[in-house]
Amino acid sequence: MNPALSRRNTLKLAGVAALAAVTKGCLGQSEPKPGMAGAAGLELGAVEGGEYVLPELPYALDALEPHYEKRTLQIHHDRHHAGYVKGLNRMLEKLAAARRDGDYGAVKALSRGLAFHGSGHVLHTLFWNSMTPGGSPMPRALRTAAERSFGSTDACSDQLAAATKAVEGSGWGVLCYEPLGDRLLILQAEKHQNLTVWGCVPLLVCDVWEHAYYLQYANDRGTWVGNFLKLANWEFAAERLAWARRLAG
Ligand code: FE
Repeated sequence: MNPALSRRNTLKLAGVAALAAVTKGCLGQSEPKPGMAGAAGLELGAVEGGEYVLPELPYALDALEPHYEKRTLQIHHDRHHAGYVKGLNRMLEKLAAARRDGDYGAVKALSRGLAFHGSGHVLHTLFWNSMTPGGSPMPRALRTAAERSFGSTDACSDQLAAATKAVEGSGWGVLCYEPLGDRLLILQAEKHQNLTVWGCVPLLVCDVWEHAYYLQYANDRGTWVGNFLKLANWEFAAERLAWARRLAG
């Protein structure tokens, strides 16, 4: 086989594998494997009886105060995230009914709903883990990756903050790992599902939908993003990076 073609195929497969793996990891469709980074990967989500379930928060409701208040956190998790889990299950039920009935008249709307609610569930699951009381230092492997990808860790944080503050409308700031180039990227997600680079594995995500901060910060998105970075769980991001690199091979 042509070596160049073989390498291209390998890279394509690596990207597909990473995408499949992060989906499995976030949505809990696979059993944890010994030696895998549990909190970073396969144990984040859960499925019971074939349905996705709302994961519990990894800390107490008041653990992130004063930067993220209990009432905001509780409503965000118990109402908003729960809504995406419910929506995801509903889309899957309706798609199953469409297959059963051979009626794909609503498949466009259902596919859009699947991407919206599925991405909402994945990102919120990652969001709770992207914060930890007091924040955490950035481990060496992540520092090295950030320096190689952005020039410095400060540049990584600065770009992440700027991109997140500048999200148009409702969306997210996303630090992610791009497996084809073995590098970090910072993306903006509009709504939950738009503007991704396929195959990227999200490592650290910041929610800038109004429901994420308006109750506490009103229209001051900039202060919210600054305080999110004070809570940033870089250790979780580093675990996710190591996990994604193993999966990408
Ligand atoms: Fe949210």
